[in-house]
Amino acid sequence: MHNDIARVLITEQELHDRIAELGKQLAADYADKDPIFLGVLKGVVIFFADMVRATPIRSQFDFLVVSSYGSGTTSSGHVKMLKDVSCDIQGRHVVILEDILDSGITLEYVTKHLLEMQPSSLKICTLLDKPSRRKSSIIADYVGFTIENEFVVGYGLDYDERYRNLPYVGILKPEVYSK
Ligand code: 5GP
Ligand code: MG
Repeated sequence: MHNDIARVLITEQELHDRIAELGKQLAADYADKDPIFLGVLKGVVIFFADMVRATPIRSQFDFLVVSSYGSGTTSSGHVKMLKDVSCDIQGRHVVILEDILDSGITLEYVTKHLLEMQPSSLKICTLLDKPSRRKSSIIADYVGFTIENEFVVGYGLDYDERYRNLPYVGILKPEVYSK
């Protein structure tokens, strides 16, 4: 698995340190708000688990599942809701947790859908942001790392459902895509 990685972009230590900072920020901003941390599966699982433990305040979890990618490395541009939220978010403070904000098409769809349920507030916290690829007006409120236009894997992010369990964020060797 590690052999397929050309370069480590963000190390375990860097992830840990940045998430500790983001957690402090979220904890301060949501101290008395009993927020719902809403993870967009599956890519967010590892970030979600670390992020909520770095944010030691009264809060609730929920998840939704969307799919926008086929098995390739670019978005199909067509978002499907595979599993909706399972709690009532009306009148609640909701923080969406995402692995990566790329074109923004996924989060545009998700936020539009959630706003119809009238939360008190809705913010976005993404581990990675690729602003150069944006095709929508979505802006994240909390960003872990801003990265260049490169396809990354690891720390929850997949290529064809593999590499999610790498403990760092890395870039695959080009020959892996042509296998
Ligand atoms: P968007 O709708 O913003 O274009 O895409 C968001 C989703 O596309 C992310 O949640 C993620 O699943 C996937 N994605 C975007 N860029 C990358 C990338 O560099 N690597 C991986 N593994 N997935 C990505
Ligand atoms: Mg995702």
